Amino acid sequence: MKLLSVGTVAFDALETPFGKRDKIVGGSCTYISLSASYFLDSLGLVSVVGEDFPDEMINLLKDKNIDLDGLQIKKGEKTFFWSGRYHNDMNSRDTLDTQLNVLENFDPIIPNSFKTPDYLMLGNLVPALQLQVLDRLEKRPKLVVLDTMNLWMDVAMDDLKKVIARTDLLTINDEEARQLSGEYSLRKAARKIIEMGPKYLIIKKGEHGALLFHGENIFYVPALPLEEVFDPTGAGDTFAGGFIGYLASTDDTSFENMKRAVVIGSAMASFCVEKFGSERIENLSQTEINDRISQFKKLTDFSLDLALA
Ligand code: AMP
Repeated sequence: MKLLSVGTVAFDALETPFGKRDKIVGGSCTYISLSASYFLDSLGLVSVVGEDFPDEMINLLKDKNIDLDGLQIKKGEKTFFWSGRYHNDMNSRDTLDTQLNVLENFDPIIPNSFKTPDYLMLGNLVPALQLQVLDRLEKRPKLVVLDTMNLWMDVAMDDLKKVIARTDLLTINDEEARQLSGEYSLRKAARKIIEMGPKYLIIKKGEHGALLFHGENIFYVPALPLEEVFDPTGAGDTFAGGFIGYLASTDDTSFENMKRAVVIGSAMASFCVEKFGSERIENLSQTEINDRISQFKKLTDFSLDLALA
């Protein structure tokens, strides 16, 4: 298996300045897998849902060639539920409710055929469960990418630090990077976080793009200026899915290739925010994806004769 993703498959209730949805499918693993599926045909997920989870979504994930042998469906139980409200700037949000439901007693069983993935994406999830997944693999993947959130910094910092120490690349947003490091300057924050273990760090800045750090190297990709942003939910996970999906498909973890992967991740995230939930990334064409990547290229492409500067 090229890529294994672990995380939540959820129901979300969302409120943005553009509207409201009471119950739509979300979850870190849903966005990651959908996004990565455009680059890979050998990927699987490990997660858990309740009996209330819709068959249509399961069928959609299967249609995308996502192996669901690691998706546990718990009879008589309810799917993880998260509810959030975005502020007018769409860059910040408040969590209104988190109901763990099936996650409360989740035992992340890894099917035998999933135990030697080349690439591992640990999507946002309880850090203790992310650690369990690492312990249950038969060999260390070529690259372990971790995503997390401020909640785990508040309630499970010790476990979180243990997972961070065992990953190659961490993706977090700017606020979280500041919280984790205690530094306001993102450059200083990056140095401190890299000292915690990962060789690479991606700091996501919402509509202001993303930064990739590795040693003394920094690479920056802006976000595509869009006319309308309906719902940023899942943008970070969609970014991560595009990023690792591309890396896994090219099987190249050099810094140069990671730069390309950051552009691909940003392009995928730019689709995600155009509609509510995962709707926009459920049925993208290869032409749409290629066009979007070209727009990113054009956005930052310029020539400058240094002799004249
Ligand atoms: P993002 O906007 O990329 O941060 O991801 C949003 C998704 O994360 C939503 O679809 C939620 O279902 C999911 N989510 C929210 N809170 C948590 C949590 N505590 N653990 C795991 N997933 C979560």
